Amino acid sequence: MRNDSGVSRRTFLRTSVVAASAGLTASVAVAEKSDIPNGAKDSVLTSTYKSYSGHDVTSDAVHAGEDSDSSSYPIYQGTTNQGRYSRDSNPTIDSVEVKLKELEGAEHGVAAASGMAAISQTLLTFLKQDSRMVYHRCVYDGTIGLVDSVLTPSGIDCVSIDMTNLTQLKTALSKKTDVVYFEVHSNPTLDVVDVPAAVKLAKDAGAMVIVDNTWLTPYLIQPIALGADIVIHSATKYMMGHGNGLAGIACGPRELLQRVHQTRMYVGGIMAPFNAFLLHQGLKTLPMRMERHCANAKRVAEFLNDHPKIKRVHYPGLPNDPGHAVASKQLNGFGGMLGFETKEKLGLKVELCKKWVSLGDVETLVVRWPGRDDRRGIPDNYWRMSVGIEDSDDIINDLKQALDKA
Ligand code: PLP
Repeated sequence: MRNDSGVSRRTFLRTSVVAASAGLTASVAVAEKSDIPNGAKDSVLTSTYKSYSGHDVTSDAVHAGEDSDSSSYPIYQGTTNQGRYSRDSNPTIDSVEVKLKELEGAEHGVAAASGMAAISQTLLTFLKQDSRMVYHRCVYDGTIGLVDSVLTPSGIDCVSIDMTNLTQLKTALSKKTDVVYFEVHSNPTLDVVDVPAAVKLAKDAGAMVIVDNTWLTPYLIQPIALGADIVIHSATKYMMGHGNGLAGIACGPRELLQRVHQTRMYVGGIMAPFNAFLLHQGLKTLPMRMERHCANAKRVAEFLNDHPKIKRVHYPGLPNDPGHAVASKQLNGFGGMLGFETKEKLGLKVELCKKWVSLGDVETLVVRWPGRDDRRGIPDNYWRMSVGIEDSDDIINDLKQALDKA
């Protein structure tokens, strides 16, 4: 059942430091180093995780929302269950909403049919004709499509800026703004937005902050703990983890999310019960998978960084990356996504890695970007890579043979 009350938040040292720098001290208590949770003790990462349950992230990933007597949450496939129509509420979907909102340290979660359904339903809830949204210029291309084909034609003023430059954000916010929207690491260029700093500017200007946390997951950052209002995910990616279903989620305060729930009721983009079942399975291993993704991506980034055919690697975990300082301050790990520019246009005949367009799966996925895109700051000869959980030597050897032959 929903666990929206009984707040017993665990807070950890680094969250307190980051939150304090964002002026968020009221809601967090400075914790001792000995409070570092179990999962992190065995981890290469430092955990700043906090949830309503008071448990560690690894325990929430396994247990949150699991209130059935079954070892796998049952699939309620019926269109009506316990008197409620499934577009409104369904036990399997409700239970995975609890797991997701717990992981994001939020009061409430609203599941959606896909990441795009979560993004659309959330933005359509809070933006109306004559509203204004300021967004980072580089976000997922489906979100750009939503801006261009739905939001802007509906009379919403959508303003694209480079949010890695906080002066630009401050200037954009001098005009009354309803929503500030960004991805923590942008798809596909891995620009890093300073979450506490962006939140502070947005709050000072009276704007709501909506963050797409798909690429990092709550294992690596919880934007709500840093002051964001709503966090959205394409749960299709790392959360599902195995490339086996579409899903989305929006998490945040109950009052705001009840409004998103109502939009979902009428727009109709609810998660399928079977996908909610799969998502429960995927989430149970999210912490372990994320550690492996992070460790592998670091090694792959270092390999590419030294390769003579590579012009630049986009990976905030590399000390020479422009986002490194901000990422180091706000993350528990640098994630499994990276990008690279080749010096010349070339093809890569990878054998172990897959050229599939999604990301966040256990397999390593690599895609060449169709071309330069000045609007989003995507350079020529750009490749995006979602580093999987295979053996890192095998991934690197595959890239090496592909680059040697190219
Ligand atoms: N947000 C980000 C950052 C994404 O990368 C994607 C898809 O790649 C989406 C949203 C959309 O998710 P979905 O495909 O589940 O609709």
